Amino acid sequence: MTESSTDVDVVIVGAGFAGMYELVRMRRAGFSAVVLETADDVGGTWYWNRYPGARCDILSVDYSYSWDPELQQEWTWSERYAAQPEILRYAQFVADKHDLRRDIRFKTRVTSAQWNDETHRWTIHTDTGDDLSCRYYIMATGCLSMPKAPDIEGADRFTGEVYFTSTWPHDGVDFTGRRVAVIGTGSSAIQSIPLIAAEAEQLTVFQRTPNFSIPARNGAISDERMAAFRADPDAYREAARWSGAGVPMDTPVEGALMVSEEERTARYEAMWERSELLGITGTFNDTMSNAESNDTLRHFFHDKIRSIVGDPATAEALCPTNHYVGTKRACLDTNYYETYNLPHVRLVDLRTDPISTITETGIDTTNESFEFDAIVFATGFDAMTGAIVSVDITGRDGVTLKEKWSHGPVTYLGLMTAGFPNLFMITGPGSPSVLSNMMVSIEQHVDWIADTLDHLRKNDLDAIEPTELAETKWVEHSNAFANLGLAVTADSWYMGANVPGKPRVFLPYPGGVGRYRVTCDEVVERGYLGFTLDGPAGRTVNDGIIRPLAPDVQVMLEVMAEMGLPPIESMSVDEARTFMEMSGAMSPPGPEVGEVVDGMLPGADGAELEYRLYRPASDGPHPIVAYFHGGGWVIGSHTSDDAVCRDLCAQSDAIFVSVNYRHAPEARFPAAADDGLAAVTWIAEHAEALGGVPGQLAVAGWSAGANVAAVTAQRAKLAGGPTIVGQVLLNPVTDCDMNTGSYVDNADGYILTKGLMTWFWDHYCDPADRADPKASPLRADDLTDLPPAMIVTCEFDPLRDEGNAYAEALTRAGVPVRHLQAEGQTHTSLGAVGVIVTGAYARAEMADALRNFFGATVRT
Ligand code: FAD
Ligand code: NAP
Repeated sequence: MTESSTDVDVVIVGAGFAGMYELVRMRRAGFSAVVLETADDVGGTWYWNRYPGARCDILSVDYSYSWDPELQQEWTWSERYAAQPEILRYAQFVADKHDLRRDIRFKTRVTSAQWNDETHRWTIHTDTGDDLSCRYYIMATGCLSMPKAPDIEGADRFTGEVYFTSTWPHDGVDFTGRRVAVIGTGSSAIQSIPLIAAEAEQLTVFQRTPNFSIPARNGAISDERMAAFRADPDAYREAARWSGAGVPMDTPVEGALMVSEEERTARYEAMWERSELLGITGTFNDTMSNAESNDTLRHFFHDKIRSIVGDPATAEALCPTNHYVGTKRACLDTNYYETYNLPHVRLVDLRTDPISTITETGIDTTNESFEFDAIVFATGFDAMTGAIVSVDITGRDGVTLKEKWSHGPVTYLGLMTAGFPNLFMITGPGSPSVLSNMMVSIEQHVDWIADTLDHLRKNDLDAIEPTELAETKWVEHSNAFANLGLAVTADSWYMGANVPGKPRVFLPYPGGVGRYRVTCDEVVERGYLGFTLDGPAGRTVNDGIIRPLAPDVQVMLEVMAEMGLPPIESMSVDEARTFMEMSGAMSPPGPEVGEVVDGMLPGADGAELEYRLYRPASDGPHPIVAYFHGGGWVIGSHTSDDAVCRDLCAQSDAIFVSVNYRHAPEARFPAAADDGLAAVTWIAEHAEALGGVPGQLAVAGWSAGANVAAVTAQRAKLAGGPTIVGQVLLNPVTDCDMNTGSYVDNADGYILTKGLMTWFWDHYCDPADRADPKASPLRADDLTDLPPAMIVTCEFDPLRDEGNAYAEALTRAGVPVRHLQAEGQTHTSLGAVGVIVTGAYARAEMADALRNFFGATVRT
């Protein structure tokens, strides 16, 4: 590429680690490529952020390129956490080694870009006046490269020296004898404050939000920590690529509250000693999702801070109380807290004494006036979107990216955005990026983009763009993931909360780099699912959703797949029952209720049935729900849906009587159905003795239990009693037809498989009997005058269509029906109380339906 080329295959913006590697990949693939970079050399972050103490917070052995195996031998890091000059030298070394600079135009800022839908090319404008035309436009502009504009009154009035950590002078600053102010206590401030304090005559730190920091314990990296890398560098890197955060780490299996306080503190101490950023939130598996667990870590930090900082008031001010650990980026420091013990260092807590204005000579707070020789702004960045939207990018139909993203960024996989064909972002919003070791994320993105361009070329295509559905659903998926955790609760730059007026959305994808990599690979394997590909070979729209499952459901299925459990249908009945009991014992217990009582009631044919009664904590008497558990008429018991019963009992304020109806194959059809009617009859007759309100009786059940409930409601109607005021059917079996669309779509992969359902039916009922309404209530001739129903069906359930059909049939028959079709959920997920958070709303609706059934009864 020559300096004057204006027509290229690829323009890359940014010569940080992302742009440099992208250039390497483009060259290797034989594309003509040019990099445009504002700075006068490579390095990006490490070119600009030259403040004292700047260094990486991911171990250097991890925070390094993996794409050049020679480089791993040629370059040795001097410290655990290399300082900025060394990281910059590393970038320069790579640029020299691969002769990158000949394709990089430095001191060139990209100002605007326009897509031409006729030519399928971008025109790129720069501040040097040079314009370029390219087929593919790659923004390698960095997540933390656009310094946040000072948003403090009077910021431009100060006549002394002003520094920004993000654009530090190249020849350094000597603070000797100066009175210095530092504004901010994020990572940049925490790294620089001890070194500024070492020079300055006076240092005053203005803190709006205290942060969590652990000592870096910098120095040579231990042989022990390097052992895995040295033993097999390739395997080590590969493990990083599939890990959660881009560093090989053991995944904790325990929650913080599952161990004793002593054990917990010992593990936190080990984390503190180990001094690795990802270890902070990686000690227990629920630190980022359970507020109570996180609090134990927060208090550990508070104790540490109090033990280091001498002045109690300063120590308290340094203890973060308004956000959970890890919800704002935590820090690694060298003597940060100790610095506040120096006599010439002072902390001003802006929460109690805010800045009113910056003056010509210093800073005024509400209570004080300070004079300074220098002010250091360590106030952070317009993260993830700032550098991208600072370029005026116009896509198809004249829409600008800034307009499109005015309510928050919308991307597919953080890589592309609809309406802007051939525009790629490296580590864009919607990618794991800043939640990971960025090197790993950068390499994955660069490789994916390079492979995609190669794919287009090989297939005689020249344009790619995500579909609106694909990106809308990706954003929803990413947000749903974020909402499972605590990170959305903080005013962090992850949320855009640090920049006034910026839309408040969680910017990175929180599912982790390994899971994200699987997703990106799967998009390709499925023919670029969610993309439109266009070019001389023609246009194909491969619309679709890559991750339609609710995120916690997806994670649960992944965990189960990793366990490699045998399918239930391959087990004997006894094994299946034991397995069901074991998995029940491992599940969270469900909420407390007022009382749990076990008893016996008469079933049909002289059978004695166990039951478990759950009574609400409120004063009785209460309405009663006769509940029938799931398990395909074969497995499960009156205690197997314990958590669901507790949850619905507590939420609906009704007594739940969970009945252990007889099971197949010992008692085949119609034993379960007969027991259902017998049990409900007995419960109705003994309502008062059970603490219930006579006449206020509903039936409910899950799966085969919902089949029993539905059948019971029909038979009670036919028999003229007992009176049932409502039926709540969760994923009911309503029909024996196993050829529905939902059986086809969800035959495998979602725990209840077609094979398992066949196993259940075969154990329960002869084929000749299956069309009997006592087995297939959908087939009843007359569905009129049945009790009002709440029917819940799940998108990824083989039984979905028969449940939907029953809801429609009841509605046609004039029965009031509330029908919830739960998107992204499976047959088992809504019953996973305390595990599948995204399913809780459905149980709340079921409880609400029950309250309405009973309310209606009271009124009549
Ligand atoms: P950058 O390095 O930010 O490079 C982007 C380049 O694009 C810049 O050089 C910029 O000048 C250029 N550019 C932007 N817009 C334009 C334009 N319109 N025209 C021309 N050029 C443009 N991550 C970690 O994983 N571990 C760490 O330890 C770590 N430490 C960090 C420390 C600091 C102080 C900061 C600020 C960030 C840190 N990060 C860390 C994140 C860091 O940004 C990434 O690790 C990585 O360096 C980003 O590389 P990049 O190439 O994507 O972007
Ligand atoms: P930051 O984390 O956003 O911190 C900015 C600080 O300035 C915060 O304390 C913020 O307070 C404060 N601030 C901002 N505006 C203010 C205002 N108007 N008045 C008073 N205080 C104000 O920025 P950063 O320290 O530059 O770090 C950004 C990210 O870069 C880090 O999170 C990390 O990912 C990366 N980084 C890493 C390292 C490393 O150790 N390797 C070093 C530096 C940066 P509030 O919190 O109240 O907003």
